[in-house]
Amino acid sequence: MSEEKLFLWDIDGTLISVGGAGERALLGAIRDTFGFEGDLSVISYSGRTDRWITKALHEAYDLELTEGSQQAFLDAYLRHLEIEMKATRMVVLDGVIETLEIIKNNPNFHQGLLTGNLQKGSEIKLKHFNIWHYFPFGAFSNLSVNRNDLAKHALKVSREATGIEFDPSDVYVIGDTSHDIECGKIIGARTVAIATGKIRKEELSTYKPDFLFDQIGDASHFLNTLL
Ligand SMILES: [Mg+2]
Repeated sequence: MSEEKLFLWDIDGTLISVGGAGERALLGAIRDTFGFEGDLSVISYSGRTDRWITKALHEAYDLELTEGSQQAFLDAYLRHLEIEMKATRMVVLDGVIETLEIIKNNPNFHQGLLTGNLQKGSEIKLKHFNIWHYFPFGAFSNLSVNRNDLAKHALKVSREATGIEFDPSDVYVIGDTSHDIECGKIIGARTVAIATGKIRKEELSTYKPDFLFDQIGDASHFLNTLL
């Protein structure tokens, strides 16, 4: 254990709730690129990367995935996301801004993103709430289809950005799904599950995160519990 701590944040269901904007943007992308009305219940996408979702939708609809079709789908998704973000009732979740602020103001604390969103999608979502600037670095779906690989990338980019070799026991992976917990365990980090997304607390507990919260709520209490 050292003084230096690293906090790696998931976005959807953890920092913010975007009230279905992501889902509607995916349906728009299906309409634009596949040419029909889609149904997202054909895949299980919570906690998955945008590139994983793109691939899974191609498979579910028996469509060939090519470099070009993937790019067209993701471009359409980002286009729709920008529109949907303006039309949706969205919130930053309770205690998030206070927590980000405490971390930012502590010279031994560092934070970045570990998210299945594309970099551009993350920027659209977080700039909307004026919280993008809290994250000087991140691992995004651009780097990998697979969230577990993203966690390894996150450690690498954190090291490059801060010049610090973090001990895994000083790294906290914070998210709202089993996939966040799993990818955190893979890099030996402490896993922090928050039941503010689609997955209920009882279900999250079966994946045995190191910490499990109903919500972040009180920022000081949240961080004191982790540390
Ligand atoms: Mg999430």
